[in-house]
Amino acid sequence: MTIQVAVNGYGTIGKRVADAVALQPDMELIGVGKTRPNHEAELAIENGYPLYAAIEERIELFDEAGLELAGTVEEMVAAADIVVDACPSGIGADNKSLYEAYDTPALYQGGEDADLVDVSFNARGNFEAATDADHVRVVSCNTTGLSRLLAPLQEEYGVEKARVTLVRRGGDPAQTGRGPINDILPNPVSLPSHHGPDVNTIFPDLNIDTLGLKVPATLMHTHSVNVTLEATPDADEVRDALDEQMRIFLIPEGAGIDGAGALKEFAMDRGRPRADIWENCIWSESVSMKGDDLYLFQAIHQESDVVPENVDAIRAVLGTADAAESIERTNGTMGIGF
Ligand code: NAD
Repeated sequence: MTIQVAVNGYGTIGKRVADAVALQPDMELIGVGKTRPNHEAELAIENGYPLYAAIEERIELFDEAGLELAGTVEEMVAAADIVVDACPSGIGADNKSLYEAYDTPALYQGGEDADLVDVSFNARGNFEAATDADHVRVVSCNTTGLSRLLAPLQEEYGVEKARVTLVRRGGDPAQTGRGPINDILPNPVSLPSHHGPDVNTIFPDLNIDTLGLKVPATLMHTHSVNVTLEATPDADEVRDALDEQMRIFLIPEGAGIDGAGALKEFAMDRGRPRADIWENCIWSESVSMKGDDLYLFQAIHQESDVVPENVDAIRAVLGTADAAESIERTNGTMGIGF
């Protein structure tokens, strides 16, 4: 029996999750929910994904655009074993009662509040915590990136304290209304940024402070990381430990990759769909130890790093695989690991 998966909200995250689900041998994408018949609705039809209308009053707009609907989102939710909600922040919370009405377990994205759900999720951090949960939040792009980094550091060396400055892209490439256009904003200006508390939804006891900035960039986020460890490994040992993590890409010294632009070029050259980079990208040369303090820089592709996490969360909730099996299957089918 394959897992019948519905994706409600077919935008930046939803269309990527839909493609990843369609690749899984143990899953079937039964449809995607859309509010309006735009180019992404057309793409769903071109990909052979059944299209469901999220808003009944707009059904005729799909008819006028010549896009065939398979039904309403309510029908899609009723038919699904699990729904991945990838609607804009706050809309997931509005949709919760619909998922509850059909007793369909739901995954939400990082834009929703942690208290909406039973558990927040990161595959490397707390896979088992999601088993049998009805409402699970796959944490945001930045929290995913931090969780993947901190989990192995915690296991190998122990983390006394993490301090991270997040230099965040102002918006995604297609978000023309976002900014800043020509400025550098402490954002939020007060401490902590929400990222540290969000990491604590995955690792409740981890000592972490985070600061955020927003800059006029769209390609990726960059994290400046300092972790005080409970041990004093040398930088090479830390590099080797990080290199073993499948969802961490250690940018080789001498690769000529100096920033997000070159990283995206690298991904395009290697034929990545949408130039997606599912892995944390850590500059190998930046990994440094000063006493028990680890320093490094990592770049995070905000539009795609949460995609494999959604796939793993589906198996975690339904209990169809353990963490190692699921992560390996997702990595293998998607082609994760440069
Ligand atoms: P998006 O705006 O690109 O896509 C959301 C889609 O949902 C759009 O196609 C929109 O038309 C549709 N939609 C709106 N209302 C709907 C409804 N009632 N029913 C069905 N569809 C509806 O947004 P996104 O960037 O994909 O973000 C989705 C979620 O993922 C948010 O919680 C966000 O915080 C989170 N997230 C975004 C990013 C990112 O960088 N874009 C990264 C990680 C997590």
